[in-house]
Amino acid sequence: MRPAAIKCRNCFNRCARIDSTVTRSSTSGLADPGEFGIISQIAAGIASNDTVVTGIGDDAAVTAVSPGMQLLTSTDMLLEDVHFRSAWHEPYLLGRKSLAVSISDIAAMGGIPRWSLLSLALPTDISTGFVSQFIRGFHSMAADNGVVLIGGDTCSSRSGVAVSVTIIGEQYPELIVRRSGAKPDDDIWVTGSLGDSALVLEKLEKGDSVPGGLLCSLLDPVPQVSAALALAGAGLVTAMIDISDGILADFGHIAEQSGVGGLIRIHDLPLSAGFHSLARNFPATPYHMALAGGEDYQLCFTANSSMRKNIDSCMENCGIAVTRVGIVTSCRDVVAVNPDGSHYIMKSEGFNHFR
Ligand code: ADP
Ligand code: MG
Repeated sequence: MRPAAIKCRNCFNRCARIDSTVTRSSTSGLADPGEFGIISQIAAGIASNDTVVTGIGDDAAVTAVSPGMQLLTSTDMLLEDVHFRSAWHEPYLLGRKSLAVSISDIAAMGGIPRWSLLSLALPTDISTGFVSQFIRGFHSMAADNGVVLIGGDTCSSRSGVAVSVTIIGEQYPELIVRRSGAKPDDDIWVTGSLGDSALVLEKLEKGDSVPGGLLCSLLDPVPQVSAALALAGAGLVTAMIDISDGILADFGHIAEQSGVGGLIRIHDLPLSAGFHSLARNFPATPYHMALAGGEDYQLCFTANSSMRKNIDSCMENCGIAVTRVGIVTSCRDVVAVNPDGSHYIMKSEGFNHFR
């Protein structure tokens, strides 16, 4: 029997379009429509624009790059039972998320997401409904962010669904933000709240119920494109990264590339109201989730302290919450500190596939 689907009550508009009757497998499977039927279905839902000279249907796509801009390219895989569970991830939301996590990488560099490629490996017995919902979700995230799907690959899989998304963005060279620009005494900032997705995942794995609003953080993350473009466009930040493996690990990448360290004040970490109520009576400490939980897809960035007012008003204009959580140091360690200045001891670090 198929496990009960989980719905987000707070993202009603998105989830309302989910067809909850979709089952993952069917006896007829994908024999009909077949590979080319699936590709036609994918192509039919694309809202193209004049940056795409030749889209799906030829051996390669042709795109027009904006004069003076450089390309930013990134790719991500989503594997069934590694990155997602069919029991929790409705195909529509899975389609959205598979593109969202890639868009988040382009945003983290201050890039404008433009084009994507979607490679799908599908078990032959998967239902056509699963595939059509996934595609609908993918197209909705593309439309939300002005991204056009320009190609991909479709093949059968003998062990679960595998999705690979390549994203291409563009930006003027002087506006591209790298991990390597943080300077000692810069502030460390984060957008939104941290730890929600990790807490939701832990609850779902235990079979506990989770309120709708918090589910969205894990199942339907929103890439912080407008915040990133505003910060990069105004030249306010020195380094930036998206938080996919926990702020400690991801700020650690900024620190390493910039040749600096950092202090992260645990009492300043932004925790949502939903997080506080769900985390009550929970064995793991909330700070652990906020420091080392995965899949926040918020931005972590560094900026000179003279930029504080500008950053606050820039983010206010975007309607995005932003919090100063620490300071860049010249010694190369990245540490979390308690309110009394003592080190906060972590039991484990951010997610690592091979540990
Ligand atoms: P080839 O045999 O040259 O690799 P395909 O038959 O795989 O060509 O693909 C035909 C066209 O459909 C190409 O333009 C390809 O980019 C596109 N395509 C195939 N699969 C997908 C997919 N999952 N998403 C988007 N476009 C796809
Ligand atoms: Mg191919």
